[in-house]
Amino acid sequence: MAVVEKEKRIFRIEIDPRLCKACVICVDFCPTDVLMINGNTVAVKNLDACNGCQLCDNRCPDFAIQVFEE
Ligand code: SF4
Ligand code: SF4
Repeated sequence: MAVVEKEKRIFRIEIDPRLCKACVICVDFCPTDVLMINGNTVAVKNLDACNGCQLCDNRCPDFAIQVFEE
């Protein structure tokens, strides 16, 4: 049986700290625990775990977080 290794997808997460109010919505929606609150803004704690689902981006009420595939 042949094993085909999939290329790992790489994502970039951009956070605008001027717009983020640290409401925790994105942290709660993230299925892979990528995000955390750090002071008055959200921060990335484990980018490697990001699967690009865009839930954080879509659920943020303040358009403060965006996810891009590299
Ligand atoms: S949902 Fe938006 S405003 Fe709320 S913590 Fe996340 S990035 Fe910040
Ligand atoms: S794109 Fe999905 S997996 Fe990546 S940080 Fe946002 S919610 Fe989490």
